[in-house]
Amino acid sequence: MRPARAPVSIAALFASRAQPARAQGSSLDRAPKVGFVSLGCPKALVDSERILTRLRAEGYEISPTYDAADVVVVNTCGFIDAAVDESLDAIGEALERNGRVIVTGCLGARPERILARHPRVLKVTGAHAYEDVMDAVHEHVPPRHDPFTHLVPPQGIRLTPRHYAYLKISEGCNNRCSFCIIPSMRGRLASRPIDEVLREAERLVDAGVKELLVISQDTSAYGADLRYRSGTWRDATYETRFIDLARGLGSLGAWVRLHYVYPYPHVDAVIPLMAEGRVLPYLDVPFQHGSPSVLKRMRRPAHAEDTLTRIQTWRGLCPQLAIRSTFIVGFPGETEAEFSELLDWMDAAQLDRVGCFKYSPVEGAAANALPDHVPVPLQEERYARFMERAGAISAARLKRHVGSQMRVLVDAIEGGTAVARSAADAPEIDGVVRIAGARGLAVGDWADVMIVGADAYDLSARLLH
Ligand code: SF4
Repeated sequence: MRPARAPVSIAALFASRAQPARAQGSSLDRAPKVGFVSLGCPKALVDSERILTRLRAEGYEISPTYDAADVVVVNTCGFIDAAVDESLDAIGEALERNGRVIVTGCLGARPERILARHPRVLKVTGAHAYEDVMDAVHEHVPPRHDPFTHLVPPQGIRLTPRHYAYLKISEGCNNRCSFCIIPSMRGRLASRPIDEVLREAERLVDAGVKELLVISQDTSAYGADLRYRSGTWRDATYETRFIDLARGLGSLGAWVRLHYVYPYPHVDAVIPLMAEGRVLPYLDVPFQHGSPSVLKRMRRPAHAEDTLTRIQTWRGLCPQLAIRSTFIVGFPGETEAEFSELLDWMDAAQLDRVGCFKYSPVEGAAANALPDHVPVPLQEERYARFMERAGAISAARLKRHVGSQMRVLVDAIEGGTAVARSAADAPEIDGVVRIAGARGLAVGDWADVMIVGADAYDLSARLLH
């Protein structure tokens, strides 16, 4: 199985040479132009989309090159040290090529780290600080339009292909996993009211989106901070909670894919919606380990749940359910016995899609203080053993699909081959379905196919209609 992607660059929109700095607040006889570099996870991508939407609404143009931009916004990631380095490099590149740079995103929660290396940045704001970013842009490149009198598409500006969109339902997280510093960077759980989320989803579907990818830090906790407050949408009352969200989204006629769900008992209620075809039979559950003692040291949400029984219950209710997860091997103190427990857990769980990270310390994380860090060569060895086991499970599970029919969504056309995804494949992180000789298909099309082959990660198919 494919390792999960490190939370690094999703879109970097530039090339080209340096631009001399302009005087602050200079007035322009053309639309002001903002360059944008977006790094990090899908949650950061949604932040970028919101800022871009505001910029376009106010008459800013988005510049594809550094030299044509009046100012550059860099949306950073600070999840692991590699992502911090990539963010600092991106800021340096923007400074070198343009000179006028505003920094936002997760790394913005640690401005001292940015300013120590790049003291010339114009402004540093934290994650999802849209207003602060806009204020900084206004200060350095004044707008020419009033956002309330100029139109942008009702679905806003998006960086994803037209046929799918990320739907962020909350910010922040109330958990305190010992390896993670996201709560200190992005704050406590702050859910968006249900009616607001459902209206946004409706606008996206009206604009041609065929797949909604629900994201947050902890989707199963949705609404707890709002005490599950009610809202009205399409003349019906919904509570701001996980199951009502799934019901509402499931009525839109699009694929609905649930990410970052934790295995709490209340999650069971969504499985019948999957069996009925209203929500995709797909759950992204970041289990992270199979050993209860390691999960306890990780301080994982739902670490005391009997996850294997829960998986069995889900599959009993919805046999076609695909479960995706990520894992960390070599967590501090992980013994050979605990690692074997993880492998045994994998054999029993038979997950469909698995990504794996070798543990690496993150500045400020509680896990750094744990004793008995696992040496890197042993981490490498465990990673290889884990991936071999996971790859064999994936290959066996994919093979079961050969000879079956399925509906897929086309993401790309490469030569005469359509690269599509099934219900079991989220974009960017899971496998694909390759359809050879797919004449007549276009990006964003549905296709009904017969599966004719499988390898460890991907399927190949023949077009039926
Ligand atoms: S659930 Fe854990 S890993 Fe995920 S954001 Fe919250 S604290 Fe971090």
